[in-house]
Amino acid sequence: MIIDSHTHIFSPDVIAHRDQYAARDPFFGALYRGVVARMVGADELIAAMDAAGIERAVVCGWCWQDNGICIEQNSWLMDIARQYPTRIIALATVQPNAGADALCELHRCIAGGARGIGELNADGQNFRLDDANFLALARAMSDANFPLLLHTNEPVGHPYPGKGTLALAEVYAFIKQFPNLRVVLAHWGGGFPFYELMREVRRVAQNVFYDSAASPLLYRADIFKTILQIVGSEKILYGSDFPLLLYPKRQAEPGFAPFLDEIRALDLAPRELENILSGNARRVWGA
Ligand SMILES: [Zn+2]
Repeated sequence: MIIDSHTHIFSPDVIAHRDQYAARDPFFGALYRGVVARMVGADELIAAMDAAGIERAVVCGWCWQDNGICIEQNSWLMDIARQYPTRIIALATVQPNAGADALCELHRCIAGGARGIGELNADGQNFRLDDANFLALARAMSDANFPLLLHTNEPVGHPYPGKGTLALAEVYAFIKQFPNLRVVLAHWGGGFPFYELMREVRRVAQNVFYDSAASPLLYRADIFKTILQIVGSEKILYGSDFPLLLYPKRQAEPGFAPFLDEIRALDLAPRELENILSGNARRVWGA
């Protein structure tokens, strides 16, 4: 079984009116204004999953700056998850700065069948991990045993739209406060796994996981073995960032197969591969 732990889909309304949403939300606009990045709906996601033999996908909408748009889109995505109960695991987004309204939306989404919050983006949504509002949200999530998918990215290398400046020290201070909260740091944690070689960080990060979203655009495929060696296969989640084109030079349309082929070609031990491709996702998202 394969579970992709990091995909994005949009409602028909957002796809049809992307420029209007881009005007309302500068971070969304930076990535999606015009025809820069691809957007797909639920049916296209399911068709692509079928084509590549992917059984389930963890689906994020978008990290909207306006909590009102988060609420609308969460309602849509939870409906989709009810429509495809064996295929789609919905995550909800909130704007932490909305305070009590964000907490209220968290509880509505827990009751509505979402399996976690994410992908939140501190740079894109203009919050800090030590803001009182965000800490209150994290406390409520930790108490409800509800996991978080947080965008992180590598602090070095070439710039690209959406590359943020969230510091790994901020991430560390945050997870230290919530040792029981399951946190998935997207895009290999922006390099955070390296610091799990420090015993104190390893202890604090016992409920921290890493996904491989967008990996082929950023890293050589050896990164799987390298990070596996540091943190173990129990902490790595296969995620693609679909429908992002991971091989833009040789891929005309988004699809899951080339990245999966690259992972399979690594010759990981069967148990490691099973953990990465589905086992860890089932444990983290309760799927
Ligand atoms: Zn991301």
